[in-house]
Amino acid sequence: MPNDPVALLCAVEKSYQMDSVSVPVLRGIDLLIQPGRFTVLLGPSGSGKTTLLNLIGCIDRPDQGTINVIGQSVNEMTDNQLSDFRSANIGFIFQSFNLLPVLTAFENVEYPLILSGMPLERRQNRVRRLLDAVGLSDRADNLPGQLSGGQRQRVAIARALARKPKLVIADEPTANLDSATGEAILKLMRRMQERYRISFLFSSHDRNLMSAADDLITLKDGCIQTIVRKPQAELKTSHHAKAKGETAGAAAVNAQPDYQAVSDKDIVLVDAADSMLMPDEKDA
Ligand code: ADP
Ligand code: MG
Repeated sequence: MPNDPVALLCAVEKSYQMDSVSVPVLRGIDLLIQPGRFTVLLGPSGSGKTTLLNLIGCIDRPDQGTINVIGQSVNEMTDNQLSDFRSANIGFIFQSFNLLPVLTAFENVEYPLILSGMPLERRQNRVRRLLDAVGLSDRADNLPGQLSGGQRQRVAIARALARKPKLVIADEPTANLDSATGEAILKLMRRMQERYRISFLFSSHDRNLMSAADDLITLKDGCIQTIVRKPQAELKTSHHAKAKGETAGAAAVNAQPDYQAVSDKDIVLVDAADSMLMPDEKDA
């Protein structure tokens, strides 16, 4: 169902074992992540952001409490089920890009599609469209070591989108980039989120990113401190204002319709890529 929560957490607790001492990291998290939104998880280093994202991303399990992700109860899945569910439904973008260094940009994006068993021609078409959408068509044959940080992260974005996930989780994806490149990457993700109506969950310790959020969750010492949700009505208004070239509060960071990154000359989003993926992919 399109309006089902992306994630629903009830009384979630997680501790790490340190020299036989149990250190609580998440202390009773109740949280609803809404679908089709750009949710920012903000909190200082050590507040538990990665731990929380790993639970929502089905990489790890809670000690206590229940987690439901895209209608599935994480608690009830076996490890294999969890792993299959994760690959089919969730895309990940990491702070340190996590590209495979021996594979080209093209092959990195193609890799999850090979694992999913997609036939050659179909998957190569999809990879080409994805690289196009992140403005990297001309870098397809480069290894990660031959790309800038911003370019690597754009490959990682394309890879995260490859299997048409319902949710993309980005754990401090701009932390290793200079601020101009980070801003361009943020805009690119926002663009992808809006275009393909994917739910994005994005963590950061940078308060400047607050304004990017539809929903803003702040975390402190393993507890949710505040949740601020922009009303749907305001979302529509701000998208409209944006189309008229105005800025409206939190919508200011959203990409303009004719978006071209100002600060990272490399990022030129191709509008023709609109038909690239969801919802009407034509390469079936
Ligand atoms: P954030 O992503 O907000 O920086 P983390 O979720 O990575 O926070 O970490 C929260 C706390 O849990 C930190 O104090 C960290 O040291 C601790 N921690 C994280 N992962 C582990 C682990 N695998 N083993 C032990 N402690 C951990
Ligand atoms: Mg972290």
